[in-house]
Amino acid sequence: MPTTITGGCRCGQLRYRFEQDGPLLNYCCHCIDCQKSTASAFADQVIVSTDALTLTGRNMTFSTERPSGGTTINRHCPDCFSRVCNANTVYPAMTIVRGGTLDDPSGLEPFAHMWSSRKRSWIAIDHGVPTFPESPDPAEFMRLAMARRAG
Ligand SMILES: [Zn+2]
Ligand SMILES: [Zn+2]
Repeated sequence: MPTTITGGCRCGQLRYRFEQDGPLLNYCCHCIDCQKSTASAFADQVIVSTDALTLTGRNMTFSTERPSGGTTINRHCPDCFSRVCNANTVYPAMTIVRGGTLDDPSGLEPFAHMWSSRKRSWIAIDHGVPTFPESPDPAEFMRLAMARRAG
């Protein structure tokens, strides 16, 4: 039975919902770009099927070129500037929703951490969680995501 997950920006103007089968596909990226764009220590990310995601309210986009190819299109609330989600032109079927924008983020548990070489020294990652010093091989990364999905 899919569950309906909801979330939105800080001011509540931009909202989203998606249907999720199985556990949320959450990972953390500690790279410098993610530290800058979140203005925080790392990015808390949730992989969502683009087809399953519905945004309501106004959003504005900010595009960035990815070093590994493609363009990332970030969607922000134009009133409070929260970055709610982004998608890359190379992987249009996937949208990455910011974990902190979920109405209930309590169930989030990362299946992987990437760019641990840039991680703050005080962040201790559980030894059981796959961790990559930089960007993982995309096939290996998707294998881990699917293993989480299978439970
Ligand atoms: Zn807002
Ligand atoms: Zn990153």
